[in-house]
Amino acid sequence: MSAPQPPMGLLAELSHRCPLACPYCSNPLELERPRGELTAEEWLRVIDEAAELGVLQIHFSGGEPTLRRDLEQLIARAREQEVYSNLITAGVLLDRARIDALAAAGLEHVQLSIQDSRAASADTIGGYKGGHARKLEVARMVRAAGLPLTINAVVHRQNLDHLEEIVELAVELDAVRLEVAHTQYYGWAYANRAALMPSREQVEHANAVVAAAKERLKGVLTIDYVVPDYYAKRPKACMGGWGRQFLNVTPTGKVLPCHAAESITDMTFETVRERPLAAIWEDGPAFERFRGTAWMPEPCRSCERREIDFGGCRCQAFALTGDAAATDPACGKSPEHASMVGLAETESAADTRDFVYRTMGRKERAGRVD
Ligand code: SF4
Ligand code: SF4
Repeated sequence: MSAPQPPMGLLAELSHRCPLACPYCSNPLELERPRGELTAEEWLRVIDEAAELGVLQIHFSGGEPTLRRDLEQLIARAREQEVYSNLITAGVLLDRARIDALAAAGLEHVQLSIQDSRAASADTIGGYKGGHARKLEVARMVRAAGLPLTINAVVHRQNLDHLEEIVELAVELDAVRLEVAHTQYYGWAYANRAALMPSREQVEHANAVVAAAKERLKGVLTIDYVVPDYYAKRPKACMGGWGRQFLNVTPTGKVLPCHAAESITDMTFETVRERPLAAIWEDGPAFERFRGTAWMPEPCRSCERREIDFGGCRCQAFALTGDAAATDPACGKSPEHASMVGLAETESAADTRDFVYRTMGRKERAGRVD
């Protein structure tokens, strides 16, 4: 088999620690402890290896990446290697001095998450009092420091009716881009599905809001929309295809084909402490397992869309069928599709607003959105 093309982007999860506790967090249920995190020297080597492999963009993420005091050093190395650096942050720990230091180190873009347009609801969803107000201040500081800003909003049943306001907020904060991402139901979000699943009406309304806003805000705000799967007819090309464009390094150095891949519990992942990044990308068993189309069962194997969506999301297939090689149930051709839609309809009608918050310990913290 020929060597794969180099990946375009690397998601560097510097730490799973985070002051927020979002119930849809894409970090694994078993969060990695600070004790095992890669050192600055190890991350610097990962950045060098990524640049050598051909990575064009590094997204510094977490958890909360600003908890790492060596973040400036890592960004400076990315700049030295001529790799574009983007910071994905909850923002609440930033102040103007740190933002200036990050910009001076070479940071090129900031993606700031918001949990809702309304403070009370946002703080409840994120499990962090005062967080929303702080994020608004930080967004203004980012712009004042001359950095381009993207607002990230994960949407679900509890905030979807405020989508117009979320769009207006992004404009008001002078963001260049707004990413509206429907919750992907694996990991923490899977545990919170009954409280987060939107109704079909909400999703249809959201689709219309985004379409109208894209038109109205041309040249002002770019809106990227990650469509929801549960009411779709065909799945998304998750990660642009497994092992085709992206890779993810966790705080302890595990190399994953997708940030959620650890939700597939029958897989193991190599670490950058064991082998160089390029070797793992090129022939690591986790990358080879679902790369290309040879692994596909029917109906994907003979489907004309197999090189377009690559059979959809492996994590979703595993979460819903127990088989990571199954056709993504988001596809109308999957035998599990009807039960997935039924499940979405039942859960979205539930009245629950109780969350299982993301926690570093395994203790669950319950709360309500009022
Ligand atoms: S989704 Fe929420 S809890 Fe998870 S890393 Fe982002 S801000 Fe922190
Ligand atoms: S059958 Fe497979 S390849 Fe075809 S559309 Fe569905 S998920 Fe995509």
